[in-house]
Amino acid sequence: MQVFNSKTKIYHAIEALKADNLTIGLVPTMGALHIGHLSLISKGLEENDVVVVSIFVNPTQFDNKEDLVKYPRTLERDINLLKTISVNKILVYTPSVDDIYGTDVLASKFNFDGLEFEMEGQFRHGHFDGVGTIVKRFFEIIKPHKAYFGEKDFQQLQIIKKLVEKYKLAVTVIGCDIYRESNGLAMSSRNERLTSEHRTAAPFIYKTLQTAKSKFGTKSANKVSEWVIKEFAKHDLLDLEYFSIADVKTLKPIGRKSNKNKYRAFIAVYAGEIRLIDNIALN
Ligand code: AMP
Repeated sequence: MQVFNSKTKIYHAIEALKADNLTIGLVPTMGALHIGHLSLISKGLEENDVVVVSIFVNPTQFDNKEDLVKYPRTLERDINLLKTISVNKILVYTPSVDDIYGTDVLASKFNFDGLEFEMEGQFRHGHFDGVGTIVKRFFEIIKPHKAYFGEKDFQQLQIIKKLVEKYKLAVTVIGCDIYRESNGLAMSSRNERLTSEHRTAAPFIYKTLQTAKSKFGTKSANKVSEWVIKEFAKHDLLDLEYFSIADVKTLKPIGRKSNKNKYRAFIAVYAGEIRLIDNIALN
């Protein structure tokens, strides 16, 4: 398996593949790979000749220093896992911070038409400037035909689509279903850091989302939100940060329900020190 640390080297390797008319998919990740990531990569392999998997813990998208320092870094294991899917058709790009940012480890400022101010934007300041900076840079280096993002980070997915639209980038953004453990917990690299107690408690998040979805059939968004807040208030191990029922296009909290619009419920919860997010389609 080819593993690149340098943007110049991977750029030239990809130019050579494109000269042979091969199509390139990109799956950006922060590593500590799990089956959720692999589902994106498998989809990429179905739809492209070659898939570039970037593994980079991007410092500018962390508003919490401790989270950045403690983020799991398991490169050798990640590469071995990727080899189980394909040795020839996956290229790994695992740059250093210096390769991406040089000495100025700073995010650019973006205007995502307000998508950046909702939900995660309210609790993780500057997060989406960091995401926009790194994904735009990867798009410029790799110039993929298609790029794959999980609905697990639904707000991020919508923001990347906006980035592509605003900068007229020649890449098709593909959203992929959320991959869950059998108990419903959305797979996440951060799950590795849960204590066994919090790991046992965490499936409550998705159970609550499922019940919220069924309540949304007959109740107002406000009533559903009140119910969710009460459920978490009773829970000893999980702290609700936010719950929002929002329009999938604007990500703004729902006003009056309309059959014409699509809605999702979004949630962020602390399980001890670990922050988990999830979401569910409501209609
Ligand atoms: P991360 O390494 O957490 O930045 O995630 C890299 C990509 O994988 C992002 O597009 C995520 O949305 C996606 N992803 C992470 N977890 C899951 C999951 N459980 N199901 C589907 N996609 C996921």
